[in-house]
Amino acid sequence: MRIGIDIDGVVSDSYPAWLEELNRHYGKNIKVIDDYAMHLVFDVPWDDMNNFFIANVERLFMMAEPVCGAKEGIETLLREGHELVYITARTPEEKDVTVRWLTLHGIPHEHVLFTGFKSKVDLVKQWGIEAFIEDYQVNAKMIAESGVPVFLLNTTYNQVDLSTGITRCQSWNEILEEIQRL
Ligand SMILES: [Mg+2]
Repeated sequence: MRIGIDIDGVVSDSYPAWLEELNRHYGKNIKVIDDYAMHLVFDVPWDDMNNFFIANVERLFMMAEPVCGAKEGIETLLREGHELVYITARTPEEKDVTVRWLTLHGIPHEHVLFTGFKSKVDLVKQWGIEAFIEDYQVNAKMIAESGVPVFLLNTTYNQVDLSTGITRCQSWNEILEEIQRL
């Protein structure tokens, strides 16, 4: 099967690392990210936070650790004969640092695609993706509505009722079990 995989919050445990950096930058002490839109969590304009990310992209992207079980899960999927395509909302300008991070952590990566904040559905269709692993419920909904089953890794910011075609998973192990069941 050809499986699409998101990066931030699925492979890279970006948000805990970013939370710390953003708390320092904005002089806040926020403990839990309860909204995927972090500028809303910090109550600052989107542009302002985006500029912070652009100015610090190297450090912010390289500092994150892999999500628990992600590397092993990816290796298992490859061993089982699946083809993997990373589809991230990061921008094409962030390709170099993204690929370096994957390499640094020994995470196999043949295809890495960048939407630059745009919908993932076009690439999902174009690449014939048959299942998708995601953490953002809005992306999950759009992908599921295009007919591709989505496995949503449970997070603090995706606690909403899920529509048809989306399965909430507590861990990478659960994702693997669900994919084997397809
Ligand atoms: Mg994500």
